[in-house]
Amino acid sequence: MYCTNCGVVLEESAGYCSQCGTPTGRQSTAWATRPVPRLTRSIYDTKIGGVCGGIAQYLAVDPTFVRLIWLVATICFPPLLLGYIGAWIILPKEPPRLEAPVPSGIPQAQS
Ligand SMILES: [Zn+2]
Repeated sequence: MYCTNCGVVLEESAGYCSQCGTPTGRQSTAWATRPVPRLTRSIYDTKIGGVCGGIAQYLAVDPTFVRLIWLVATICFPPLLLGYIGAWIILPKEPPRLEAPVPSGIPQAQS
């Protein structure tokens, strides 16, 4: 593979030219093959409808944090509750995970 801008030889996996920084187009391919996180209702991390759990999973943040933000936002702005119900109806349930859940009973090394 060669850089389209300066012609320098690049590694096949390179996303950018190491010489001039021109994108090789590999980046977009990598993006296309990467599984896109889907916004779903969590069926494992559920308090009411799994909406907060699903959003947390989508954003890769702590579900408790999402619920806390959501709670405060709903208290300040009650119509958000309708948004939750809407999301509950609209969002698809996440597909069941095939692999066994990671055991949480692993003893942690105390320091
Ligand atoms: Zn280049």
